[in-house]
Order: sequence, then structure tokens, then C-alpha cells
Amino acid sequence: MAHILILGAGLAGLTTGTMLARDGHRVTVLERDLAGPPERAEEAWTAWERRGVNQFRLPHMMLPRWWSVLRTELPEVRDPLLAAGARRLNVLAELPEARRGALRAEDDRFETVTARRPVLEAALARAAEAAGVTIRRGVTVTGVTTEPAQVPHVTGVLTADGRAVHADLVVDCGGRRSALPAWLRAAGARPPLDERADSGFVYYGRHFRSRTGEQPAALMNYLQNYDSVSIITLPSDGSTWSLVITTSARDKKLRALRDPDRWHAALAGYPLVAHWADGEPISGVDVMAGIEDRYRHLVVDGTPVATGVVAVGDSCAATNPSVGRGASMAIVQGRLLRDLLRETDPQDHDKLARRFGEDTAKVIEPMYQTTLWGDRHRLAEIEADAAGHPYHPDDLRWHVAKAMFAASLTDPELARAYTSIAAFIAAPSEVMAIPAVRERMAAFGAEAPRYPLPGLSRAELLERIG
Ligand SMILES: Cc1cc2nc3c(=O)[nH]c(=O)nc-3n(C[C@H](O)[C@H](O)[C@H](O)COP(=O)(O)OP(=O)(O)OC[C@H]3O[C@@H](n4cnc5c(N)ncnc54)[C@H](O)[C@@H]3O)c2cc1C
Repeated sequence: MAHILILGAGLAGLTTGTMLARDGHRVTVLERDLAGPPERAEEAWTAWERRGVNQFRLPHMMLPRWWSVLRTELPEVRDPLLAAGARRLNVLAELPEARRGALRAEDDRFETVTARRPVLEAALARAAEAAGVTIRRGVTVTGVTTEPAQVPHVTGVLTADGRAVHADLVVDCGGRRSALPAWLRAAGARPPLDERADSGFVYYGRHFRSRTGEQPAALMNYLQNYDSVSIITLPSDGSTWSLVITTSARDKKLRALRDPDRWHAALAGYPLVAHWADGEPISGVDVMAGIEDRYRHLVVDGTPVATGVVAVGDSCAATNPSVGRGASMAIVQGRLLRDLLRETDPQDHDKLARRFGEDTAKVIEPMYQTTLWGDRHRLAEIEADAAGHPYHPDDLRWHVAKAMFAASLTDPELARAYTSIAAFIAAPSEVMAIPAVRERMAAFGAEAPRYPLPGLSRAELLERIG
């Protein structure tokens, strides 16, 4: 069993650390932020200071993919999560019965458990410690220690107080802004290969608490596309939820949405979601833009840039959050690492680095690329809306995706097909390989209405927000 050092006690660091500790590894997590999780869930929301995570108080939802891995690999986390008030729901069952038909036994794959990010993270941190993970908070990592070699081997990290902490393996879970490339460069390694682009989206999100104790009814899938904007409805713990309007960061006319009155005026124009804004606001309208899509390769041209170090979570693959896949990708990748360490000695430095690079390229990179593909099209579509012309790319897959959504509004089979892609439990290619899906899609034809859901046109939206 190895001593594993994890950098960062965010969602990736906590779930990866807990899985590794369960396998008997000695796991230490170093976290820059000093404060640990408060005792009470509500205090995590109101008082837990987590400057290391920009999006800490922005809307989050855990997808069924995340839950399916968590409940299988970390079953002991379920009860503390539920005890903290996390919401258990089935994203298919939430839809109106007229649309999804009667529930079937296999529909339990659409189940998830979700909470506001601070509430969720507090429960995960406690579960990690209960599994034997040591979390040292208030420790900032500033570099790596290496053994000189043709490919430098990372033997540990340096911390801001000038100490060195050694380990058999360093797992970088430092998030989107991880400084790993700079640390490796300083140690004489070749730089990792980063593919990056501004995702181009801006988020206007707000959290609410129910005045009646009830959560608003989901009349539609949680991510809905309209002329010029997408709207996301996210159920959360206790009687809370959040609501997000997302659009192109370049759309200056829509920047008025940062004003709460205009944000509410806009939402009132979308009948399937307007009732989600009818609660007691527990945050302002929080705005976030400049979010990068980034994929980091630590194996470049077939050779690791360094051994003894791997990257998991956002530090490896960070995507546009409107599809809510970050935590799911992180837990899937954490499991890849755990599985690899079951069969590979961490002392076999080169093999471990290469194999993790291969496993990540096989499993995580396609998730990243598919997400990026959808984001690129959606952003281009929103920008075409703003420019006042239709969006007709040559890419047939985009038209098929639009047709699947339109068809899913009236066909229970396609409601399941579409929702399984949104829930991240099936890839589009897997869904399209199901004969019944293909037949039903063919019956609907490839052309879909641009925006089949009732809501404001761009002109009406602009008029509402002045
Ligand atoms: C606006 C927004 C909304 C999102 N919504 C969703 C959603 O609905 N569903 C979803 O699944 N995902 C969502 N995501 C993505 C999700 O937040 C990330 O995928 C997730 O936080 C990744 O976890 P992580 O542990 O890799 O990084 P983080 O959670 O960012 O954690 C990194 C940790 O590393 C620590 N750290 C960094 N540098 C150092 C250092 N030098 N020394 C010590 N510690 C360090 C930080 O303090 C931090 O605690 C959203 C993201 C954004 C931006």
C-alpha cells in the first residue's frame, strides 16, 4: 500500500481520497483553505470560507452518473449526505407522467442525490476523514520535489512554510487553477500539453429557499434551451434550489440580467420555469464568466512529462458547467486511479504514469470532447440568435441532437434516451445505437423546431429587461 498525497480538498480530492483510503492506502490531503466544514449543514452555506473554489456558492447539481459511482464505490457516504439534508430525486420521474409514461424498474438509473455545493462538500469531507483520510487544512503547496532523471520523478511537494512532504504518489486535485504546469517546469520537466479555450458562457444564478417547504415542480428537463439563453433549474438540499440563466458572455445586451429585478422579469416570461423564481432568495444574482474549457495531457508524445504525479478532476479536465458534468468526471477519473493502483505498483513509476494517461485518454477525454462539442454548437447557436440568423451547421449530429430533444417531448422512449444523455449515464453514440431509438427518431425526421419550448423570443426578452 502506498502513501498518497492529494493536493486539494475539493470534490475530486475528497472522493478520490476516500476511494483510495478504502483500499488501504495512507492518504493525506493538503488543502490551502484553512477552515474545515462547520458542524451544521446550514452553516456550511452561510459561513464556510472557501476562497480556493471560485464556484463554491454557485449553483451545482450532482448528476445520476456521479451518484451511481458514489453509491457503488462509497456506499457509506449516502447516509451522512441524506442526514445533511441532501435531496434524493429521480430526474426522469420528476418529469410529467404524460411525457415519460409509467415508471419502469430500470428507471432507477435516473436517481441522484444532490445538495448545495458547501453542504455536499462538508458531508464528503466528514466521510473522507471517517474513512481514514488525513486532511491538513491551511497548507498551500508551492512546488514539487523531484529526483533528477531524464523524465523527472516527483517525490513529494513543497509547502508555503518551506517544508517538503514526501509520498509515493502525488495526485493533483487543485482544480481549474492548479499551478502544476509551473511547478513541473520549475523542476525541469517538459510542460504538460494544455488544450484550452474560453467556454464563452456567462452564468447568472440565484439560490432560493421555499416559502412552503415544497420544491418547485419540474415541468421540463433541468437544462432548457430558448432563443438566446438557456435556463437551468437545480433542485437542492432541504427546501432550497437554484436557478440559472446562461448565455454568451459576448452578448452585451443581456448583461442587464445581473440586476435581480430584470433577472426576475426575464424569468417570468418562461412558463415552464417561472414558478422556480417564486421562493425566498438566499443569494444575490451571482455572475460568473471567463470559465475555461481545458484538457491537460501529462503524457505528451507517448512519454510522461514527469512520473510520480497524476492529475484528477478539474486540474485535468475542466468543462463548461452548464451541463453539470465536472463532479461526475472527477469521480469517474478517481475510480480509474483506484483501479489502476490495484494492479500497478506505484514504485513502477513509468508504467503508472503511462497507464493512467492511457486510461484517462480512453475514458475522460471522450467525455470532455463530447461536452466541448455540445458547448461549441450551443454557443454558436446563441450567437446566431443574437445576430438574428438561423443556425444551420453542416454537422448532422447537432441536428439529430435537436431532433431528439423535440421528439422526447412526446415519446416516452425518447424522453428516456434524451434524459440518459443529460444525466450523463449514456453517451450520445450509445443511445443512438439502440435500435428502438433510431427507429423512433427516423419517424420524427431530422428537422426539429429551433426552440420547441414556450418562452420569450429574443426581442421580447430584450424588451422585458429594458
Ligand atoms: C459556475 C460553476 C458551476 C458548476 N456546476 C456544476 C454542477 O452543477 N455539477 C457538477 O458536477 N459540476 C459543476 N461545476 C464543476 C465543479 O465545480 C468542478 O468540476 C469541481 O469543483 C471539481 O472539483 P476539483 O476538486 O477538481 O476542484 P475544486 O473543487 O476547484 O477544488 C480544488 C481545491 O484545491 C485547492 N488548492 C488549489 N491549489 C492549491 C494549492 N496550491 N495548495 C493546496 N490546495 C490547493 C483549492 O483550495 C480547492 O479546495 C461547476 C463549476 C462552475 C465554475
